[in-house]
This record gives sequence, structure tokens and C-alpha cells, in this order.
Amino acid sequence: MAKLILIVEDEVDLVRTLEYNLRDEGYETRSALDAASALDELKKPSPPDLVVLDLMLPDMSGTELCRRIRNDETTRHIPVLMLTARGEEIDRITGFEAGADDYVVKPFSVRELKLRIRAVLRRSDSASEEVLDEEVDFGALRVDIAAHGLSVDGEQVELTALEFRLFKTLFLRRGRTQSRDVLLRDVWDIKAHVMTRTVDTHVKRLRKKLGRFSHYIETVRGVGYRFVAEAPDDTP
Ligand code: CA
Repeated sequence: MAKLILIVEDEVDLVRTLEYNLRDEGYETRSALDAASALDELKKPSPPDLVVLDLMLPDMSGTELCRRIRNDETTRHIPVLMLTARGEEIDRITGFEAGADDYVVKPFSVRELKLRIRAVLRRSDSASEEVLDEEVDFGALRVDIAAHGLSVDGEQVELTALEFRLFKTLFLRRGRTQSRDVLLRDVWDIKAHVMTRTVDTHVKRLRKKLGRFSHYIETVRGVGYRFVAEAPDDTP
């Protein structure tokens, strides 16, 4: 079935270009010219598989809309690809803080955007399939989500329930940066912007248990952590 992409952007010409090109690629599209209509679209019975979200909207910032998508149980799983203007480093960080999965800097080529969309959709597909899978091999790791099992280089590793939850959250979202706030919310269930050091402490412990494969969890400076998208070559 064709994937449905919701385009949230107030520049009508850009919306038309994206609609044309994404349909040409086999996607279905819907579009919203402001955040209010985007929220309406997201409430419809068939929600989009991905949202392309412009940072600058007339009625709300893209980061705020992204935060709302993440804070709503019915939409939090939908990947968000953000469009930002060149050089808006601060917005890239706030975009990840708000829970965006990836971002593309304007002006971008349609080809670049299509590649990013495909990558984000593939990651979200494999993440949801793996939850059901028995075991997943990833480089030196063997992961059994259902049984809370993790082997590193053939050796079973003992993880606390919390450590496994942290591992699972990073692993299933690999390739996607997870801010400390997002990890506190999804792993610890804490909404306040406090105790981000707790995340660092536990990531440190988790890395220790991964031993020489600790680099599978990358630090994203000033933002949080990211599980590598692909297993590095240095692993068996
Ligand atoms: Ca705009």
C-alpha cells in the first residue's frame, strides 16, 4: 500500500512541487498550509506515515507542532522530517529536542528530500517489525526484545530492566538522535526538564556492558544520543 505523506508548509509553490514529485515517486500526499490544518489532518482516521514539516509556519513554529505530535499518544510514532533554513543550527537542535527524526536544510534538492524520506520510512518500518520479531542480529549484538535478552559477541549480558528499556529505546530508533529529554520521557517517564544527568549516567553503564562495542551508541553533542544506523565494519 502506498505510504501517505503529510506536507506541512505555507509556501504554496513548494507544496505543489513536493506533491508532484512525491506522487511521482509512488507516495500519496496530503498537505496543510498551517499548523491548525495539520493538526486536523492528523486527527483523521487514516493518519500519515510521515510528516514533512516546515519550521516556519504562520500560526505556530514547526518545533512546537512537532512537540505536539510527539506528546499525543495517537501520533507519537509518526516520523517527522523537518525543513529548516540554511544555517539555523539552533533550530536543528531544537528540532531534535522536539522529536524530529531528521531534517533537510533549505534550499534542498527534491532528490535529497526523497532519499531522506525513504531512509526515515525504512527505519520506522524496520523498528516496528522488529518489536514482533524473535531475535535481531546487529553487528556483534543479538537482541531479543520480547525476552529482554542481549548478547554481545556471543556472551549474554545482564541488564537491569531500566538499562534494557534504555537500550531498546535507542536500538529501535537507531540512526535517529534521541535528546536527553525524549529519553527521560520515554525510558523514565519523566516529563520535567530535570535530571538529564541521569540519562548520561545510565548510557555510561550501558556502554560499559556493551564492552568494545560501546561505540554503537554515539553521543550527539549538545543534544543526546544515537544508536548507529548500521553496524560498523569493525564488528564480526
Ligand atoms: Ca514556511
